[in-house]
Amino acid sequence: MQKKTSTPYLLLANIGQLLTLQGENAPRRRRALLETGLIEDAAILCGGGKVLATGKQRELLRDPWLKTNRRKVQEFDCERGVVLPGLIDCHTHPVFAEPRLVDFEKRIAGAGYEEIAAAGGGIRSSVAAVRQSSRGELSKKVLAALNAMLEQGTSVVEAKSGYGLTPEDEIKSLEAIRNAARQWPGEVQATLLAAHVVPQEYAGRADEYVRVVCEEIIPLVARKKLAKYVDVFCERGAFTLEQSEKILAAARHHGLDTRAHVCQFTASRLSGLLQHKPASLDHMDCVHVEDISLLAGGDTVAVLLPGANYFLGHKEFPNARGLIDAGVPLALATDYNPGTSPTPSMPFVISLACTHMRMSPAEAIGASTMNAACALHLQDRKGSVEAGKDADLAVFDVKDYREIAYWFGWNRCVEMVVAGQKVKQ
Ligand SMILES: [Zn+2]
Repeated sequence: MQKKTSTPYLLLANIGQLLTLQGENAPRRRRALLETGLIEDAAILCGGGKVLATGKQRELLRDPWLKTNRRKVQEFDCERGVVLPGLIDCHTHPVFAEPRLVDFEKRIAGAGYEEIAAAGGGIRSSVAAVRQSSRGELSKKVLAALNAMLEQGTSVVEAKSGYGLTPEDEIKSLEAIRNAARQWPGEVQATLLAAHVVPQEYAGRADEYVRVVCEEIIPLVARKKLAKYVDVFCERGAFTLEQSEKILAAARHHGLDTRAHVCQFTASRLSGLLQHKPASLDHMDCVHVEDISLLAGGDTVAVLLPGANYFLGHKEFPNARGLIDAGVPLALATDYNPGTSPTPSMPFVISLACTHMRMSPAEAIGASTMNAACALHLQDRKGSVEAGKDADLAVFDVKDYREIAYWFGWNRCVEMVVAGQKVKQ
């Protein structure tokens, strides 16, 4: 046990079930996704922002250092609850100004996604509102969303721009993310999604807008160090495979990592996108059968977003079972956004994964911790509870971890520890 740091120590005691997710810092596939690393009657000692030790409480309390330094250690009684790694929401769009209530009612009345977009709703209506908003206004909205996520167990968030669609408005959106992240205890990974949709002013001239993204926006964002990733919405009505590949190539040329929205409504072949080494391919509702084995052979994580299927009223959900059983590494995320998935709740997504995609609670938790960490290239620091890793922990007031998936729409997260500090109570 390392005890050189001078920051306060925190002991989480009286844990009924600790899900450590211990194992390799690599995507968990097939049956490995079931392994939660469960320890009953557990405790965790944190110090210097890191986990120092985990294990059975009675063994941990016998540690000679802990015995002599007990007074330096703040203790938190988990009251027999469940503790797991802070949840990782690896796909969100938090930089928007208003909910899209007209779209919501239109959809209830029977209009489809593409029909709403054609009527001037959809992503474009959020674009108009973001362009009119100040950076400070947007930053407040982002921070409110991050806090709502933290309340429900999330300590790491990937946050995309994508409702600005001009160099100035995309920069403003990424700065809003950066400023909100500075006021939030958790960790935020920013992603440039200038290629979310072709903006109105480029209607019929998509290639020209792609050139602006590749030659102006990406270089500017890379120079200002405002994002780690570049994302693209590769879909009918958004960007073609060829355009998407151009954008991902430009990202890598400027030292940024890549990810993509793909196969949400229509199947695209993935070999071209995979050449740009995306950290994740997201949605994946309709993946071509031959591409499944291609994905199983690589480390690109398939991020499933069942909140969007739920909110759009779809009967079909991504084929999680087929992907897991084929060996594809799979993660879950909220897709928090105003049009198709306005939820900040990872526990709700975990529940949906169980009820609508036949994932077990253990698999859904693995997909929201270690595999989500891999989708953000953070697996060396995040995603499991073990000595040396960041002390990011979620405490739930349930006796059995399966209850996290069971009580949907009921927030059972009672405490969050981020970098070894309690941040909720
Ligand atoms: Zn998305």
